[in-house]
Amino acid sequence: MGKPTGFMEFEREVPIDNGPLLRIAHWQEFSIPLTEEKLQQQGARCMDCGIPFCHTGKIISGMAAGCPVNNLIPEWNDLVYRGQWREALDRLHKTNNFPEFTGRVCPAPCEGSCTVGLNGSPVTIKNIEKSIIDRGFAEGWVVPNPPKTRTGKKVAVVGSGPSGLAAAAQLNQAGHTVTVYERADRPGGLLMYGIPNMKLDKKYVQRRVELLAAEGVTFVTGTEIGKDLPASKLKEENDAVVLCGGATLGRDLKIEGRELKGIHLAMEFLSKNTKSLLDSGHQDGAFISAEGKHVVVIGGGDTGTDCVGTSIRHKCASVTQFEIMPKPPEKRQPNNPWPEWPKVLKVDYGQEEAAAVQGEDPRKYMISTKKFVGDENGHVQELHTVLSEWRKDDQGRFVPVEVPGSEQVYPAQLVLLAMGFLGPENPVLGQLGVERDERSNAKAAYGRFVTNVEGVFAAGDMRRGQSLVVWAINEGREAAREVDRYLMGSSNLP
Ligand SMILES: Cc1cc2nc3c(=O)[nH]c(=O)nc-3n(C[C@H](O)[C@H](O)[C@H](O)COP(=O)(O)OP(=O)(O)OC[C@H]3O[C@@H](n4cnc5c(N)ncnc54)[C@H](O)[C@@H]3O)c2cc1C
Ligand code: SF4
Repeated sequence: MGKPTGFMEFEREVPIDNGPLLRIAHWQEFSIPLTEEKLQQQGARCMDCGIPFCHTGKIISGMAAGCPVNNLIPEWNDLVYRGQWREALDRLHKTNNFPEFTGRVCPAPCEGSCTVGLNGSPVTIKNIEKSIIDRGFAEGWVVPNPPKTRTGKKVAVVGSGPSGLAAAAQLNQAGHTVTVYERADRPGGLLMYGIPNMKLDKKYVQRRVELLAAEGVTFVTGTEIGKDLPASKLKEENDAVVLCGGATLGRDLKIEGRELKGIHLAMEFLSKNTKSLLDSGHQDGAFISAEGKHVVVIGGGDTGTDCVGTSIRHKCASVTQFEIMPKPPEKRQPNNPWPEWPKVLKVDYGQEEAAAVQGEDPRKYMISTKKFVGDENGHVQELHTVLSEWRKDDQGRFVPVEVPGSEQVYPAQLVLLAMGFLGPENPVLGQLGVERDERSNAKAAYGRFVTNVEGVFAAGDMRRGQSLVVWAINEGREAAREVDRYLMGSSNLP
């Protein structure tokens, strides 16, 4: 696919971002789209490799290699190269309900397993995906497509994140009458109130929700199932229930001083920030401000990076990001070969912005926090830390071992805990009698998605634990097919 010699003729080119010092003045997305000619050249780099891995979505060494929704990547690369944008859009929508989300926030495991990447720079798959869908909306090609007939079956979806939206979209297309319940005031799950606006503008989430509503999906917001509406009632009134409530119970750090003011779970910081931004452009003051404060973010993942980017936009005095693991290598190591997900050092937008303001990358590696120390008003002022090395224990497992004499004190008036998530956080599973797995997620086998309770299915983070948007879309689609089969005896859903 693409131009057979394209990968030799054209270098990989990704969109240029607005410079970090410019973009931190606002909350808008900041990448500048490539021209059509450049995009066609990038599509041309797809090399007709014979056995593409980019679309496989296989788990290799515990990580996704290739696209988890099995996007038909070589096909739409070719169509973009030939300027057939409408056809590229149709191909893209065959496998992915929401390319405007993945094209913006997916970490692109497809690119890690692109064959051109074996010996050079991979095709810019993610940006081509984003360009196809953005063009589709700009041209007016993406319009409501309600089903022709209705089956008379009713399905309730709990949660409106990417898994709930994907399940709702598919079930509605199959002709079922779908109602999505969301406890927040706006639909979208972590697309709305987790990932910050500069990474995924909320107008795109709202636009997709409005399209689904125009196709016949009903959204009920501000309603927590299990609290505002008993789960049993939902089950009685519907032919099937799909649980897509996410896994947002944040991991806490219960050490000395945790009770001090100014220490928050990252999600509280991020979600309040977006809500206040959307409600009033931050005029209501209903958010946790980092302005003028020394901020320490504990956790080196995506959530931590979003806290860094948000703190910088608040005009913090400084921001430091702690990571317990060692600094990753710059290049793939021999034990991490292609087409595995490349475990290499990445500089994400938040780190780039902090480096531009502060003169250095905000990340500190192999660092553990021992205690928080506050002032006379009970407000956090310091973090006491120690370095930890990773050594093998008696059973051959890597464990952190403190380095004597490595103690340090960091000033901090705001501490954000971004150390991952423990599992689903709400009573709906208990009320329905849904069994949980050993990590406390809803127990339902991948591929079947049905729980131990008749007619109740689970998908997305609520089933697999905190993961990625692209996996949530995959699970929502796959679970919809199983629900359709359960309701109708067979399914034509892809
Ligand atoms: C800060 C942050 C940044 C992230 N960045 C990225 C990224 O850049 N790229 C990426 O691919 N992934 C990212 N992720 C992960 C990604 O957002 C999630 O994996 C994905 O959103 C999971 O989708 P979901 O539909 O399963 O659940 P969620 O998106 O968590 O949605 C669940 C929804 O269910 C609602 N709900 C829960 N219980 C009930 C109930 N009882 N009644 C009614 N509603 C209920 C919740 O309010 C929520 O809206 C990030 C996660 C976080 C926290
Ligand atoms: S959804 Fe993610 S993995 Fe799939 S093609 Fe898009 S960027 Fe790649």
